[in-house]
Amino acid sequence: MYVMIFGDSFLPPVLPKDAAVLTAAVTGSVLLPGDCGYDDERAVFNLNHELLPAVIVVAESAVDVQAAVMFAASQHRPVVVRTTGHQMVGPAHGAVVIATHRMNDVTIDAAGRTARVGAGAVWSEVVKETAAAGLAPLNGSNPTVGVSGYTLGGGLSPTLGRSHGYAADHVRSLDVVTADGELRHADAQSEPDLFWALRGGKGNFGVVTALEFDLFPVTRLYGGAIYFPGERMADVLRVWTGWHPGTPETMISSFAVLRLAGQAELPIPLHNEFLVSVRIAYSGTASDGERMVAPLRAAAPAVLDTVADMPYTKIATIHNEPAEPVPYYERSVMLKEFPSQAQDKVVDLAGPDSAST
Ligand SMILES: Cc1cc2nc3c(=O)[nH]c(=O)nc-3n(C[C@H](O)[C@H](O)[C@H](O)COP(=O)(O)OP(=O)(O)OC[C@H]3O[C@@H](n4cnc5c(N)ncnc54)[C@H](O)[C@@H]3O)c2cc1C
Repeated sequence: MYVMIFGDSFLPPVLPKDAAVLTAAVTGSVLLPGDCGYDDERAVFNLNHELLPAVIVVAESAVDVQAAVMFAASQHRPVVVRTTGHQMVGPAHGAVVIATHRMNDVTIDAAGRTARVGAGAVWSEVVKETAAAGLAPLNGSNPTVGVSGYTLGGGLSPTLGRSHGYAADHVRSLDVVTADGELRHADAQSEPDLFWALRGGKGNFGVVTALEFDLFPVTRLYGGAIYFPGERMADVLRVWTGWHPGTPETMISSFAVLRLAGQAELPIPLHNEFLVSVRIAYSGTASDGERMVAPLRAAAPAVLDTVADMPYTKIATIHNEPAEPVPYYERSVMLKEFPSQAQDKVVDLAGPDSAST
């Protein structure tokens, strides 16, 4: 009953007269190919992909979302939700794209330690508000990522996720428009099956219009990144792999291989370099963090070391990911262990003597 079909199909264009009916039903904008604003609203973060929907509804409310879903159903068109375009993987030919970014209200209940946010909010908008209340959400590494897509996919925070678990497991409730056009409030009591399915089911069970989730009393971290010359990749990877399992859950770290251009958001010493970096987010005291990180600092001479006590609002500087769209190819795999043969293979494939550029 709740299942919404997302996918590509070769459907005819939306006729202007049908678009006019949809326009009359929504407060937001309805955009056809060629309309002013259509290209901005179909823009995606991964430049290897392109969205080419039949129509885009830039929604301003749950009512707009309902109208868009009913329109799609009446025309037998798939629905695709776009918040930021960080994870668009198909062209959405013939589809109705619902853009949610105007629905970005953020309300904090400091006493109850919860946030209620519109589906279009991105992490930077939420962290700004939660920090003012002395709290933090289980956000991702990149402040421009959307709260909804991140949370509906599980949401693994590289700052607090190891100690607190997945963001989806800290959702209190979701407002969602299902395939029949109904706006439902799903929580553990009112719609337990839908509530369960949405938290990890991504966009497959409806269009979320708002969500409410837990916050945590975190205002600072001992965090940052230590950048080493790429030529020392094997040494640093060996030290980090041996070090990480002995750390407490309040310490989150990751290892990255970076072939950087001269992105403006990067510190100058990193421009146009081949580097490896160990990224750190520790929610204990700075002195404990410093003691804990000492073996990593001894792995090789650093090109740059930004690990220090920081306000939670500065967490984007830990990973320093691109803020502007880039072309990329993404695959991930979960490992139970990371033995030395696997480490050697990674160095062979991505290290200083590899063909990787
Ligand atoms: C630079 C970068 C850093 C990242 N860091 C992390 C990280 O630290 N931890 C982590 O867990 N993930 C991370 N991710 C992955 C990220 O969580 C996913 O790409 C997520 O889907 C992005 O959501 P979005 O709303 O920004 O993107 P969009 O492309 O707008 O949406 C992606 C998909 O989410 C679904 N969706 C979005 N909004 C809704 C809605 N309102 N209702 C129903 N479905 C919806 C749809 O299926 C949509 O196709 C990162 C991604 C990038 C590009």
